[in-house]
Amino acid sequence: MSDKFDVIVIGGGPAGYHAAIRAAQLGLKTAVVDAWAGKDGKAALGGTCLNVGCIPSKALLDSSKQFYNLAHNLPAHGISVENAKVDLKTFIGRKEKIVKQFTGGVAQLFKANKITSYFGTGKLLKGNEVEISGNDGQKQTISATNVILASGSVPIELPFAKFDGKHIIDNAGALELDAVPKRLGVIGAGVIGLELGSVWRRLGAEVTVLEALPEFLGAADPDIAKVAFKEFGKLGLDIKLGAKLTKAEVSKNEVHITYNDKDGDHDLVVDKLLVAVGRRAYTDGLLSEDCGVKLDERGRIVVDEHCHTGVDGVWAVGDAVRGPMLAHKGFEEGMAVAEWIGGKAGHVNYDTIPWVIYTEPEIAWAGKTEKQLKEEGVPYKVGSFPFAAVGRAVAMNEAIGQVKMIAHAETDRILGVHMVGPGVSELIAECVVAMEFKGSAEDMARIVHAHPTLSEAVHEAALSVDKRAIHKGN
Ligand SMILES: Cc1cc2nc3c(=O)[nH]c(=O)nc-3n(C[C@H](O)[C@H](O)[C@H](O)COP(=O)(O)OP(=O)(O)OC[C@H]3O[C@@H](n4cnc5c(N)ncnc54)[C@H](O)[C@@H]3O)c2cc1C
Repeated sequence: MSDKFDVIVIGGGPAGYHAAIRAAQLGLKTAVVDAWAGKDGKAALGGTCLNVGCIPSKALLDSSKQFYNLAHNLPAHGISVENAKVDLKTFIGRKEKIVKQFTGGVAQLFKANKITSYFGTGKLLKGNEVEISGNDGQKQTISATNVILASGSVPIELPFAKFDGKHIIDNAGALELDAVPKRLGVIGAGVIGLELGSVWRRLGAEVTVLEALPEFLGAADPDIAKVAFKEFGKLGLDIKLGAKLTKAEVSKNEVHITYNDKDGDHDLVVDKLLVAVGRRAYTDGLLSEDCGVKLDERGRIVVDEHCHTGVDGVWAVGDAVRGPMLAHKGFEEGMAVAEWIGGKAGHVNYDTIPWVIYTEPEIAWAGKTEKQLKEEGVPYKVGSFPFAAVGRAVAMNEAIGQVKMIAHAETDRILGVHMVGPGVSELIAECVVAMEFKGSAEDMARIVHAHPTLSEAVHEAALSVDKRAIHKGN
């Protein structure tokens, strides 16, 4: 007889493991099927995020920032270090230890919550049965009242620049190069391209980023994107906009690229080529033909606003469904679905999901841009404040960028906050709280912010919405 559960989650990434733990907390008998194998061939829970995404990329961003600062920030503090070197084995090894700590941590959490873990590939069959093809070659079928699909996403491959894992690489490859490439090409100036391009640039690689779109960071506020573009230029990231890759060929340990822009065709030779043109929902082998779950035109699992697929007891969350491909979006969907299954009031507010790019300077935003509000015909007012006038940022020698707050012209409700500068990945949190509580710029302006902190930029931007910022002209 097959094992029977209240909830089976297929996929143990951020969306899936949050769903599983919350379901178990609610007393539901829960199982997770996950196929990810670590380098040792053993199960490595946590999906893209913990294995080759959020956490390892931030580990390398932090290590490379420390190195870069030695020559580029510390001299301004009167500190000089000569002959600084990077031991790449330790650099990459530290990242791997962190990955292991966290993937193992998820396994511990599963044990503590009495979640049954299956190491293999799950396929949804008709009637909420799940066929597991174990990584040990064994097959078995389990079933549940509810199945949550959380199969995540994989990098998009370009047909004329196929990943070979050696010269043409994806995000996973760019997280474990065994030498700093002399010349790194990056296709796509999105979050992943900019973050991983920054890592290797800071270690000395010549980095050329080709972006097909004519606009830099089109989803961000243009004032914020402009500052970021200038700063990335200072770092030495050579970002070419409106540049479309047309050919990439590996020959004699080099990648020969052709790209096209408004001036015609150009050739470029690099040692490694990171293709970071986006990710696609991953559903290969996940669904039997008669399970009833549908995919949209982009291959994502079709769900309603409650992450329900329309098939009785079948839900889907995270990168495999519509919405931003962000770990925290998946966390919230996973927990919300577990709560709906458990008879509670799950909740995801898609309007206040924060976006963060962990470059130097950091970029963060939540809510609407001016462009979106104009299109929607919503009247608004704007306040902004530069980090150059924030004592703490100047003391840190990181006084770059600004906070821009957008509020409704009549109600004063905060509609969007956009930032570029030091520590904005953390500063965005208080703005999300304010927006979630439907706060106004006036509320934020009246909240005491500690001095001297970077958060004063948020406070002053709120004051500036009403043209009463103290440390700048209004
Ligand atoms: C380099 C990089 C940096 C990133 N940085 C950030 C960041 O800083 N912040 C952020 O919010 N997001 C970041 N992301 C995005 C983030 O990693 C994803 O949004 C997140 O991992 C999606 O979670 P998920 O659970 O939906 O899917 P995934 O993390 O992709 O997990 C899906 C899991 O399901 C498994 N699986 C798939 N199909 C099956 C099956 N049929 N049977 C069994 N198992 C299956 C997979 O093996 C995997 O373990 C980054 C991504 C990359 C690549």
